[in-house]
Amino acid sequence: MKYLSMDDRLAKNRFDSDDHNSHIIVDKTACNTCKHRGCTYCCPAERYKWDTMSDKLIFDHVGCLECGNCRLICERLKQGVEGYAWNYPVQGRGIIFREG
Ligand code: SF4
Ligand code: SF4
Repeated sequence: MKYLSMDDRLAKNRFDSDDHNSHIIVDKTACNTCKHRGCTYCCPAERYKWDTMSDKLIFDHVGCLECGNCRLICERLKQGVEGYAWNYPVQGRGIIFREG
């Protein structure tokens, strides 16, 4: 069986992404004080990564599957503390789910 990278797998979905306006906001500097970094484990699309070279969070909203896992695992996203916000993409943009 051919191994597909995450980018290959995400490319099998259809997106209408707003590349410049993220529907999820995280304060990557403040994330340095996070004790669990759960976002880097819970995202099925691997949108969150911890960069060991810079010791900083990397987040890319393009490719988000809108599952909500990060909002559940991150108390800052859940509570909407300053610098953090979780919303669905505006005007139905983002992933396009196939029905039927
Ligand atoms: S879980 Fe939340 S606070 Fe912790 S690193 Fe991820 S986004 Fe930042
Ligand atoms: S909503 Fe789901 S797919 Fe999107 S960034 Fe959060 S965990 Fe990843």
